Amino acid sequence: MTQIFDNPADFADQALDGFVAANRGYVARVNGGVVRSTEVPAGQVALVVGGGSGHYPAFAGLVGPGLATASACGNMFASPAAGQVYRVAKAANAGGGVLLSYGNYAGDVLHFGQAQLRLNAEGIETRTVLVTDDIASAPQDQMEKRRGIAGDLTVFKVAGAAAEAGLNLDEVERLAKKANDRTRSLGVAFDGCTLPGAGEPLFHVPVGQMSLGLGIHGEPGISEHPMPTASELAQLLVSRLLEDIPEKSGTRVVAIVNGLGTVKYDELFLLFGKIEKLLTDAGLTVVEPECGELVTSLDMSGLSLTLFWLDEELEQLWAAPADTPAYRKGNLAPRALRNALKEDETAAETETPTAASADLGRTAAAVLAQMRDVVVEHEAELGNLDAIAGDGDHGIGMRRGVDAAVDAANQAAAGGASAGRVLESAGEAWSERAGGTSGALWGSAVIAAGLALGNRESYRGSDAAAAVTAFVDAITELGKAEPGDKTMVDALLPFRDAFLNEHDGGTPLADSLTIAAEVAKAAAAQTAGLRPLKGRARPLAAKSLGHPDPGAVSFGLIAERVAVYFQSGPDHSELASVAGNGAAS
Ligand code: ADP
Ligand code: MG
Repeated sequence: MTQIFDNPADFADQALDGFVAANRGYVARVNGGVVRSTEVPAGQVALVVGGGSGHYPAFAGLVGPGLATASACGNMFASPAAGQVYRVAKAANAGGGVLLSYGNYAGDVLHFGQAQLRLNAEGIETRTVLVTDDIASAPQDQMEKRRGIAGDLTVFKVAGAAAEAGLNLDEVERLAKKANDRTRSLGVAFDGCTLPGAGEPLFHVPVGQMSLGLGIHGEPGISEHPMPTASELAQLLVSRLLEDIPEKSGTRVVAIVNGLGTVKYDELFLLFGKIEKLLTDAGLTVVEPECGELVTSLDMSGLSLTLFWLDEELEQLWAAPADTPAYRKGNLAPRALRNALKEDETAAETETPTAASADLGRTAAAVLAQMRDVVVEHEAELGNLDAIAGDGDHGIGMRRGVDAAVDAANQAAAGGASAGRVLESAGEAWSERAGGTSGALWGSAVIAAGLALGNRESYRGSDAAAAVTAFVDAITELGKAEPGDKTMVDALLPFRDAFLNEHDGGTPLADSLTIAAEVAKAAAAQTAGLRPLKGRARPLAAKSLGHPDPGAVSFGLIAERVAVYFQSGPDHSELASVAGNGAAS
C-alpha cells in the first residue's frame, strides 16, 4: 500500500522534488526529470536513462559520475513523454552525443524513439540501447522482444563507466549493447503492488503461491508454484538462468539479487548466500555481486536474480567507480557543482520567423483545427472500432491529442512563430497529452513535418512533398510496422505514394491531396481483410477480421478533411507558393 501523499495525481512529481531536495549534491531538477548537478566534462557522452516512476533507485537514483548523466522520469509506471526525454537529454548533452538506455517496453520505445529522432534532427547525435534481460518474457532466439528488469543496472553501469572513461559514442554504444547481450534475469513475485490512491493492488498472486517470471508491472508470468523454501528458490532461479547463457559466456559472472519492494534485506542476503554457493559449485566465479534494492516496483513482494557474464573489458567497466544517490562504488574525485542549471537552458532557442513561415504557421494551425473537427465528429465511432479488438481508447486518445495540438499551435501561431515551430509545439503537445501508441506516432509525425518545413524565406511544392515524406517516415521509423500488419501504415504508405506521384507529375497541391486522401480512405477500408500483427490488437487478431483498423480509418478521415480544406482554397499567400511544383522562388 502506498500511503504518503496529498494528491495521488501529484505523487510522482512530488516524490521526485523531494528526492532532489535530499540529493542536491548529485542531481538537479529539469522539466521532465533530473540531471547531474555536478560538472560533466566537455565532450563526454551523456547517458540518459529513464522510464516510469515507482522503480527507485531506477532511474533517478542512478544519476551521478560513473553512471547516468540524467534520467527522464515518467508518471507512476508510465513512460516519460517524448518531450520530457528530449528536454532532459538536451540538458544532459555535453557535446559528446547522447546514449538513451531503458527497459524494452512499448511506450518507452515510442517516446524515447521520438525524442531520438528530434535530437538527431537537431544535430545532437543520439543512439539507443534497449535493456532486454528478462528471460521469462520471450525465448532466447527472440531476445529483442524481452523486456528489461534489474538488468538495467549492468547495462547502465557499463555505459556510464565507458562514458566516464572518455570513450566516444560508438564505443559507449557498443559496450552497452554487449553488456545487455550478456545479462540475463529472472524474477518471482509473491504479491502485487498498489499505485498511490488505488484501492486495490494492480495484480495479485494467490496466497501461498509464487509466480515465476511475473513482470514488474504485473505482466503475465511463466508459471505458478507453491511457495518454495529458500534453497528450492535459489535452485530454481540458478538452474533456469544457467539454461539461458550467452555465447562465449566464460566463467566470471556478476550475480545480482534484487528486491522488488517488500522483501527484507535479511531475506535477500539469506537467498544470496545459497545462490552464490550454487554458482560456485557450478564452476563459476562470482565477481563483485550486488544484493539489495536496485530496480523496484513500489510495494511489490518479489525479487529477481540477474547474471551478468563478464569478459575482460566488461569486468573493468563493472569494477570502475561510480557515485550516485543510490549506488556507490570505489572512489571518485569530488566534482564541482555545475553553475546553476537554468530551466531555460532546455527551452527552445529563439527564432526570427520569416513572413512566409509565419504565414504558413497560421495555415498549419488552421489545418490542425480542421483535423480536430473531424476527429470530434468521429470520436465515438473510432472508439467503438478500437473496442472490437483493442482497448477502445482510439477516439478519446485522438481527441485528447488533437485538442492539445490545436491549442499549442494556435498559441504559437498567434505569437507569429514559424511553420516549423508551430508544428513542433503541436506535435509535442499531441504526444504528451494523448497517451497510447497513436498519440506517440501522430505527435512525432507532426513534429517531423514541422522540422521539414522549418523557417524558410519562401516555400515551394517540394517542401510539401518533404513534409509528407517526413510525416510518414517518422511513423514507420518509430512504430516499425510493415505493410499488411494492419495499422495506420496500411493507409499512410498508399497515401504518400499517391501524393508524391501526383506531385511529381505537376498536379497542384489541393488536387494531389484529394487524390491521395481517396486512396488512403480506400486503403483504410481494405484493412478489414487483414489480421493485426502489431499493437494491442494483436492478441485478439481473429476478432478484428472483418473490421478496419482504427488508426488507418482515422488517418483516412483526417486526410480527406485536410484535402477538402485545401480545395476550399483558403486565401493564404504562402499557399500559392506551396501549391504546384515549379511555383515560387
Ligand atoms: P493504443 O493501441 O495504445 O491503445 P490507439 O488505440 O490510440 O493506441 O491507437 C491504435 C492504433 O495505433 C491502431 O489501430 C494502429 O493503426 C496504430 N498502431 C499501433 N501500433 C502501431 C505501430 N507499431 N505502427 C503504426 N501504427 C500502429
Ligand atoms: Mg487503443
